[in-house]
Amino acid sequence: MHQPERLPENSPLKSAEEICPAPDFSKPGQTQPLSPSIHLASVYRCESPEQADYLLSTGPDGGGYVYSRDGHPNASLLSEKCRQLHAADKAMVCGSGMSALAAAALAHLQTGEHLLVANQLYGKTLQLLTGELSRLGITSDAVNACDLGAVAAAIRPQTKLLVVETISNPTLRVVDVAALAKICQKSNVLLLVDNTFASPALCRPIDLGADLVVESLTKVMSGHSDVLLGLICGKERHWSRIPVVLSSWGLSSHPFDCWLAARGLATLGLRVERCSSNALRAAEFLEADPRVKCVYYPGLASHPDHALAARQLAGHFGSMVTFTLGGGISAAKSFISAAKKIPFCPSLGDVSTSLSHPLSTSHRALSEEARRRDGIDGGTIRLSLGIEPAESIVDALREGLAAVEPPQP
Ligand SMILES: *Cc1c(COP(=O)(O)O)cnc(C)c1O
Repeated sequence: MHQPERLPENSPLKSAEEICPAPDFSKPGQTQPLSPSIHLASVYRCESPEQADYLLSTGPDGGGYVYSRDGHPNASLLSEKCRQLHAADKAMVCGSGMSALAAAALAHLQTGEHLLVANQLYGKTLQLLTGELSRLGITSDAVNACDLGAVAAAIRPQTKLLVVETISNPTLRVVDVAALAKICQKSNVLLLVDNTFASPALCRPIDLGADLVVESLTKVMSGHSDVLLGLICGKERHWSRIPVVLSSWGLSSHPFDCWLAARGLATLGLRVERCSSNALRAAEFLEADPRVKCVYYPGLASHPDHALAARQLAGHFGSMVTFTLGGGISAAKSFISAAKKIPFCPSLGDVSTSLSHPLSTSHRALSEEARRRDGIDGGTIRLSLGIEPAESIVDALREGLAAVEPPQP
């Protein structure tokens, strides 16, 4: 079994390109700002028609910028950091996680082709890949990506792409990326992994054989809930259409968001370690409480994918913990209003702990049957653990639980 490197270097030394512009030390008193500049320009002055023609034909890879929809210095800086974290050949940032998924689909699928999606994907991703793409004549089937036999059986001659999430929402099922990559290679299907919940601090899907990786940089990667950005990265041989699609469909990023995300990324490794240890502590605390019917956390021995997660994730199990209260929706309402120090926010990956209620937010469009299959009901609460002291998180959870009726004997 392929073993990924343990936690990759998440906070490398600052590169010379980040510290700009280069000082002219021949002039007395010249210094350099240590933090990168924010280049808000939407357009760049060109030297000549020849230069403009050259840059527009090569894109930012040619070493310069013309129009910020096609590239700008803050996007290049962030893309390069993400490329290194993923050990990818190529990487580009775009306006949101959804635009990264749209770019991958638009670059690699056309009318008459078929894609396979994991049946537990992020709700909006399912809407894009099964609903929106069907309008373009691209058909799809959903499979349980934890069942390798079912995935292999669902591949058809027209199948071009398989889309899975490293760790899914909200029951935190972990897929075997290396095994899926082998199945895909055999059938000439591209494997696209949404690595949002794991981040490259826990998993580098390209090392495991994935062709393309997308992430919502909005979440764990930025870590401060103040930007909306996405990442797409992958192998050189599947890349040529990605820059064309990002530019012509207008999926580009904003310089200030890129600057903030690059700043957040500097602490990725520290945050992921701390959030993961807090998540384990919270999961163990919740598992011991009689009001809690079940806890989903890949770091617990009780999780169905614990062994796989231990092998595939870099020694930590992520910041997300989901649990179901025995008392259903009324118990969840009591918990949410009593756990005053844990804000109800339907997002994740922030430095501060928050909670969400899948049934009324991320999973509201799911059928009753699918909810039962995924183990979600009105009593299910999803936590996104932050970096606070573990004991203050446990205290905040205890306050919430105190308002929930204990089970009747
Ligand atoms: C949030 C999220 C997305 C979409 O990202 P945005 O930045 O919100 O567009 C995609 N996949 C997963 C797993 C997510 O959590």
